[in-house]
Parts: sequence; structure tokens; C-alpha cells
Amino acid sequence: MYNGIQIILLILFSLNTLSSQSNTTEDMLSNKEILGLIKQSSSFLHEYKFENSFEISRKALHHAIINKDNYLIARSYNNIAANYQGLAEYDKAIFYFVKGLLYANRTNNDTIKSWLNNNLGNLYGFDKNQFSTGLKYYKKALWHSEKTNDSAQIYVTKLNLAWAYFYIGNFEKGEPYLNFINVQQKKFGSEKTAVALNMLNGVFYSHKNEYNKARSYFVKAIALGNQGKEKQDLSYAYDEYSKLLFKIGDYKKAYENMAAFNKLNNELTDFKKLRKANLEGINLELDEYKRKVNTIETEKELQYQSLKKSRIIVVLFIAALIVLLLLLYTLYKSYRFKQKKNKELTITNKELSVAKENAEVASLQKSQFVSTISHELRTPLYGVVGITNMLLDEHKELANSPHLSSLKFSARYLLSLVNDVLQINKIEENRIVLENMTFNISDEINMIKNSLSFLAKNHDNKINVYIDPAIPEYLIGDKLRLSQILINLVSNALKFTQSGEVKIKVDLVKLEDKECSVKFNIEDNGIGIAKEDQDKIFDTFVQIGRKEIDYQGTGLGLAIVKRLLNLFDSSISLESEAGKGTKFTFVIKFEHDSTKSVEMINNIEVDLGTNQVFKILVVEDNKINQVIIKKIIEKQNSNCIIVNDGFAALEILDKDKFDVILMDINMPIINGFETTRRIREKGINTPVIALTAFNKEEISEEAISAGFDDIINKPFESEALFKSINYLLLRQETLSLN
Ligand code: ADP
Repeated sequence: MYNGIQIILLILFSLNTLSSQSNTTEDMLSNKEILGLIKQSSSFLHEYKFENSFEISRKALHHAIINKDNYLIARSYNNIAANYQGLAEYDKAIFYFVKGLLYANRTNNDTIKSWLNNNLGNLYGFDKNQFSTGLKYYKKALWHSEKTNDSAQIYVTKLNLAWAYFYIGNFEKGEPYLNFINVQQKKFGSEKTAVALNMLNGVFYSHKNEYNKARSYFVKAIALGNQGKEKQDLSYAYDEYSKLLFKIGDYKKAYENMAAFNKLNNELTDFKKLRKANLEGINLELDEYKRKVNTIETEKELQYQSLKKSRIIVVLFIAALIVLLLLLYTLYKSYRFKQKKNKELTITNKELSVAKENAEVASLQKSQFVSTISHELRTPLYGVVGITNMLLDEHKELANSPHLSSLKFSARYLLSLVNDVLQINKIEENRIVLENMTFNISDEINMIKNSLSFLAKNHDNKINVYIDPAIPEYLIGDKLRLSQILINLVSNALKFTQSGEVKIKVDLVKLEDKECSVKFNIEDNGIGIAKEDQDKIFDTFVQIGRKEIDYQGTGLGLAIVKRLLNLFDSSISLESEAGKGTKFTFVIKFEHDSTKSVEMINNIEVDLGTNQVFKILVVEDNKINQVIIKKIIEKQNSNCIIVNDGFAALEILDKDKFDVILMDINMPIINGFETTRRIREKGINTPVIALTAFNKEEISEEAISAGFDDIINKPFESEALFKSINYLLLRQETLSLN
């Protein structure tokens, strides 16, 4: 019914005077110049010169985008959209109007917002027949124009609203708008709106069945239409009027008006056709312009995308740079840290190697110190033990003196401690080498049993010995070290058992070729050892706190046992339960070779004691030792001359002759080795026996090379001394006979 209304309805383009031709460069136009282009484009549009309008509005849009002016962008889009509307491409028109509105909404300009909303209202309402959407836009447009108090705009929008409501038959809602435009026509209306206004009044009163009133409005509309340019509105006036005449039965007039409508409509249609035909001709160019408009869009999008991309690239680059810098900084830091640590390490390494050397020196010094001190302690201790013995010998009445027996006990205890320390030290320095001797295991064990019988009695214990008869009669090995192990274990068993039993059990494990493995069990039913203590007891100086028992011990016994067994390539195992008893077990491999054993037995010297009277020179600096040795010698009815040092010995040897010389090793000024060497240099071959607290094996080499004939350990039994003297003299005799 109202097709083609857009020509009548005001498309809101500014038709102001065209701005002067731009003389600035293509790339940079001022906003004023752009506005000029927009107005020019509107002007072309008004004249239906779409191709020109497109070209100019494209240019305007291009520069508006460069200038980032949202208002000018919105206006350019408004013109582009209107061009599409003029070409009846409504969807595209809507697309560009909406775009324009988007930019318009970013501005504070309510006029452009109102225009765009109004144009969208027209498009939806009259071109697309979607009046409900159209009405929304009209109302928005009205809201904006009321904000700016733009009365002309308010007037036009309200006219559109009334028309739209009438179109959908909602006369009630349209009536207030009609009333408004009726009142305001004189002030804000124009020739352009006058035809439409009268026509709308005609439609309204026709609806109200006020035919006379309606008729007069239609007549006025038609008169105005014939005078003015609004021919489309005139055609609608004819059409609506003829409908009214039909309604009231005036068919003749109705027909006349219908004919007028048809005629005018045909003219208008012809005009449209012409326009369309013209358009066909310029279609190619138009297409090009349209394409260019699209290109601007695309370019803009691309620009935006590339801007976005380059922004992302910049952000990424900065992030990468920061990461790189952080990495560099971390590398630098860790390099510095490493350098520092390396320096520290080098210093620490140096310090450590110095410390290691110092520790080694200190350890050597310590063991030398322990060794020296122990030796030094041993000499006076032997003196104490010897003198105590002497006192007991000479004064039988003191035999029961508790002071003397406690003196003897203390001296012996100290001596055993010193000996233990020395022994541990020696084992640790690998200075102990096992010797091969032939022995009978039963003899050895019984000897141990006898020597510990006193201790057994003290604790009311019994010692029971069981020896496997399968064990060969003679074995070869270090019987002294074996005895030491057994004495330690058996004496412990006796110490920690009260009124009980200590079993020494020896079993044959294996007898093969020349190898005989023997298993030793030392078992008691004493106080036992708690599980948590069982690992510790083999360490040096470990004694488990036993409040109820007061016993003497050094805490070295088991440590020595463990180390000695190591020398035998053996190890000890322990089974014990607190309160029930203890069992120590170990296995030793001895050599078993009958021929060798017989040979060894044959070589054992026989007692050569002849009860001869010897003249003996004693070279000894220690006064106590001098007294003890003198006593021993004189007890054997031999003669004894004592000198204090090596020089005195050499002196006396020049004048006098002796059967044998007893020489202390440790003497000030000139020691035993040196003195003996000088004696030999003088051509004196009197046997010289070294008296020493050192172990034989420690000094034997040096002793032999110095010219000693034998070594006797202090404190010595007179028997051992005279056995040696007898032997040496016999040897000398034999040698001189040869
Ligand atoms: P000590 O000289 O004190 O006997 P040892 O090294 O020989 O030193 O023994 C360490 C500790 O082991 C002892 O103090 C004792 O508590 C415990 N011990 C050793 N043998 C026995 C045993 N047969 N019964 C109970 N406890 C024992």
C-alpha cells in the first residue's frame, strides 16, 4: 500500500550548500573537507545520482576513518546506506545504517543518532514491512531528537510514528502523534509534510467514520499534492480517498480518484522504471563503487587486524625480550654463583688436603705418643709390681696386708690397661704378625683354666672344659694370641657370672689336607647382655653400665678379641639374653702337619740349667730396675755388677771380663744398641742380652745388627733369664769348640 514511501519520508541528509572543492592531498583531508564531501554525496543522492553519491561517500568514509572521526564515519555510512536504500537493496542498507549507528553511538551527537534511528525505522517499517522493529527505531529516534530539542526532527519522527501505527491498524496509539503533528504543522511542518499530514487525517477520520471530515482532509491533501512536488504522497491521497468514497457509496467519484491514482502511479512507476533503466546502464560503474566501499571495509578490517597483529607481535617481542633478559640475568647469576662456589671449593679442597695431612701427621703422632707413653708407663709399673713382689717375699708377715694387696692389684690393673692399649695400637698399625708354633689345644685350654681358677673361685663359678677328641693332638698356629682371646672371653664370662658355670667347648669343624678348622664356644649362665648393647660391646672402651656389679675392666677386652680374630681371618658371634647368659663363638683355621709338628717339638730347647755361678754385668739406668735385677741374679747365687750407662759399661769392660752382659735398651746419652755395637767393635764377644719393655719382634732386627745375642722382656722370670744365659754360654762353647 505504501511502497516507495522513502521518497516522501524524509531521508535525513544534509542538503546544505556544497563545500568548496578540496585542494588538500588525497591522503589527508580535514574534518571540514570530509563534511563537505558528505554533503556533496547527499546532494547527489537527492538527485538519484547514485554513482556520484557512492563515489563521494566512499571518499568521505576513507578519510573519516583516517581521521578516526566517529561522527564523520557515521555520516558516511548513513549516505552509503541511503544509496543502497535508493537502489532497493534493503538488506545492505540496513547493514550500513546499523554500522553508522554503531559509530554514532560512540559520539555525543544525538542528531546523527536520531537520523540513523529514523532511517532504520523507515526501512524496517515501510520497506521491510517489519513495523514492530521500525517502531522501536522511531521511538529511539524521537528520544534522541527530544534530547537536543530538535523540533523539526521531532515533528518528522512523530509523523512517521502516526503513519506506522495507522498502517498496522493501531489508530489508538497513532492518534496522539497525529494530534501533535496537527498542532505543530504550522511551526515545524513544511510543504513536504503537508500532503502526508492531510492524508493521515483523512485516513484517521475515515476510520472514525467521520466521513465529511475525512473527505475535506483528502480534498486538501490532493489540492496540496497537485501544487507541490510530493507526487508519491499525492498518489496515496488519491488511493485512500477513493477507498473512502467506495465506503460511502459515491462510486463515481471513487472511480475518478482511483483513475487519478492509477495514472499518477503509472507515471511514478515509469519514473522508477527509467531510474532503474538508468541504473542498469551504470550498473557496472555502480558495482565498482560498491566494491570499493566494500574494499574500504575490508581494508579497514585488515588494517585493524594487522594493527592487532603488530600489537601482538610487539607484545610478544617485548615478552620474549624480557624472558631473554631474565634468562641472561639468571645465567649471569648462576655463572657468578658457580665461580664463587668454585673458588670456595678450591679453597676448601686446599684446606681439606692440609687438614688431611695434618690429621695424618696428628694420627701418627698420636699413635707414637700412645706407644711411647705406654712404654714409659710400663717400666715404672713393672717396678711397682716387682717391688711389691719383693716386699711380699721378704716380709712374709705382710702377706695378709690389705694395703699391699690393693697396691699389687692396682699396679697389675694399670699394667694390664697399658698393655691392652699398646696391643690395640699395635694391631691397628698392623704391627702384629701371627707366629707359627706347634701346640696341643687341650694343654693350652687347661693352662687357661688353671690360671683363671682364682677368678672362678672368687665368683663361685665352675669352669667345665669339653674338647672334641677328633681334634688332632698337635696344631700349628699362634697359640699365644689364641690364649689371649680365650683368656679375655673366659675371664669376662667369670666376671659376669655369679655362682654359675662357664663352659669352654672346642669342636672339630673340618679336617682336610693340612687344614683344621676348630670351633670355640665360651658359654656362661651369667647376667647376659641386652640386645641393644650387643653391637656396642666390641668397640673400644665400651663398658655397659651395670650398677649392681662392681668389677674391674678396661673396656678393651672384646675390642682386642675382635681385632685378634681378624688377624686369624675369623670373626666372633654372640648370642645372649639378659639374665640368662652369654655365648661367644668363633672358628679358627689352624695348620695341621704332623711332620712339621714333630720337627718343631724336636727343636724346643731342653733345660740347660747347671746351677753354675755366673759373673754378670748389668747396664741399666733405672734405679728400681737395678734393685730388682740385682735381687733376681743374686737369688741364683750369681755375681752382679751394675753400671748406670753405656760409657760406664765400655769402661768396665776394658778392665774386667764377664760371662754375660744384661743391657737395657732405653738409656740416656748412649742407648743399648749403640753400647753393644761399640762393645762388638772392641772385639769383645761376651753374650749380650737385651732387656726391654719392647716386644721382641719390634726390636729384633736392630738388636741382631747391633750384636745382641738374645732379647728378654721385662719383667722377666729368673728362670727365663738363666735359661737364656745357659743356652748362650753353651752355644759359645760349641762355637769355640768348632
Ligand atoms: P671389660 O674390660 O669391661 O670387660 P670388654 O670389652 O671385655 O671390657 O667387655 C665389654 C663389656 O661387655 C663389659 O663391660 C660387659 O658389660 C660386657 N660383657 C662382656 N662379656 C660378657 C659376658 N660374658 N657376660 C655379660 N656381659 C659381658
